Amino acid sequence: MSRKKELRLRILEYILNRGRATRPELVEYTGCRAATVFEIIDDLKIAGLLVEPGRRTVRTGRKAPELTIHRTAGYWMGIDFRPEGTLGVIIDAAGEVLFKEEICCARRDLNDCRREIGELVRRLRKTAGKEWELVSGIGFADPGVVDVNQAFSRKAVNVPGWENAATGEWLEGEFHLPVGIWPETMIKTRMEYMLRMPETPQSIFLLTLGDGVGGGFIHNGKLFAGSSGCGMEIGHLVIDPSGPVCKCGNRGCVEAMIGRNGIRSKMQEAIDSGMKSSIDMENFSIETFINAVQTDKAARIVADQVLANIGQALSAVVTLLNPSMIVFGGALSKLDTVLLSGVRRVLELNCFAGALQGLKLELALSNEFDTARGAALRMRDKVWLNE
Ligand SMILES: [Zn+2]
Repeated sequence: MSRKKELRLRILEYILNRGRATRPELVEYTGCRAATVFEIIDDLKIAGLLVEPGRRTVRTGRKAPELTIHRTAGYWMGIDFRPEGTLGVIIDAAGEVLFKEEICCARRDLNDCRREIGELVRRLRKTAGKEWELVSGIGFADPGVVDVNQAFSRKAVNVPGWENAATGEWLEGEFHLPVGIWPETMIKTRMEYMLRMPETPQSIFLLTLGDGVGGGFIHNGKLFAGSSGCGMEIGHLVIDPSGPVCKCGNRGCVEAMIGRNGIRSKMQEAIDSGMKSSIDMENFSIETFINAVQTDKAARIVADQVLANIGQALSAVVTLLNPSMIVFGGALSKLDTVLLSGVRRVLELNCFAGALQGLKLELALSNEFDTARGAALRMRDKVWLNE
């Protein structure tokens, strides 16, 4: 890539990430000559990507005007395909959500899944009306293991039939737009990083705790998932070889221990051993478990075991990756301070003090539609920044 092209991408990335910038700020950030930077900025304005209100070429002593993204330079669609239904958004070029939809149908196989996703896109297209013409691409957050380069869904253990599917090719054929697909944990991790801008930590490890358990890692703004994209699968880290069987076929994976089913079996064991509990085990959910933790003795004891399991898994993360922040998402993160202080206690017992120095533990900042929005942003950056 030529030096000029590289500089153009750096400048565009800076403004896309922050939403705004001034010319002097960009000269300082790039460390390049003002004339070179200004030439690129003017190119980006001519290409219709940036706007700059009221720029004066003579010095007036006023503050430099802010460059921002031209909102209608391109719209992007994001799809968050989850075990419990599909969410979708259309965002403008600056990342603001313009339209959103959600849908949940009965699913038995791949065709049902595709019907649900297709219906969501059609609804969004209808809501967008004439503005649909501005949509330039679709980003797809996949609930399972993905071949990102081939836009291929390998397998999601939590969604029946969702395996060996050429998701990218299928969506492109249906809607005639470029498509990118990424594992949902990658999208979520990147969103947690972006939502903390401009005060981003150097690295974040995201742990999602819900019916399933997932992880993601970002360092200096770049996601890391290993040499074949299968890294950070913390849900399938074995922490008890004699533990319950996991959906992946192994025994004692983190997900089998502290996913919804794992917590449910721990509760059942506590009750079978004679402990009293007010939890309705017929309609067990992570939410009912969390609500019971304050008042129910069996739930409190199980919560301690769960925190010990989480801390054990994260001890490996802290020892190997030394992140500056661990972020907790998913239904179980509603345990809030009980979760944060319980996990910190286990880490303090297990890890080198040096690795814990400055380590922040925080709850996720993202809302329900942020994964769909993150997928749309990821697609925008794939096209505009060649990421
Ligand atoms: Zn497993």
